[in-house]
Amino acid sequence: MSSYLSAPHFHDEAAAFKFVEDRVWPNGPTCPKCGEQERVGKLEGKSTRQRVYKCYVCRKPFTVRVGTIFEDSHIPMKLWLQAIFLIASSKKGISSNQLHRVLGITLKSAWFLSHRIRLAMDEQIGKLGEGGGIVEADETFIGKKPGEHRRRGGFGHKNTVLALVERGGKVKSVTVTDFSTVKDTFRNHLDASA
Ligand SMILES: [Zn+2]
Repeated sequence: MSSYLSAPHFHDEAAAFKFVEDRVWPNGPTCPKCGEQERVGKLEGKSTRQRVYKCYVCRKPFTVRVGTIFEDSHIPMKLWLQAIFLIASSKKGISSNQLHRVLGITLKSAWFLSHRIRLAMDEQIGKLGEGGGIVEADETFIGKKPGEHRRRGGFGHKNTVLALVERGGKVKSVTVTDFSTVKDTFRNHLDASA
């Protein structure tokens, strides 16, 4: 058995696009604007790595990025897939700083990637504690609050991250800037039956 990380979609841009296309478009390339599947052609250009298609109904070119978390991003698709793999396979989560170092991308790109991937994963997970499950909350302090550069004692200068853990399952991390919002955090992320 070969390493999962040796899969071509982690290393080859065209393979990465193909990998995403197969999942987003199970019935073949589909125009994100009008939904056309028949009159769609692949544009053969210099940058065929991007796999650009054209819809001959609404006359617009498109790639599989349109309408997905990969939209409006210049970060190579293979790095997106590496980031998703790293985030999804790590139980304790991966910081933007780690992504920046491991993937060799700027910190800004790393932040952008992890923000989008986490949002998408949150949407998929939904609320915790559905069906009366038990959810435990734990708080931790990480990093500096934006705009704070001076060192201060205590935890005042740190961001508070509230981690919600469902027994035997899902985990959510939420940044809390003010303790008065903790109640809202519970309301937004927990199922009423939890
Ligand atoms: Zn179209």
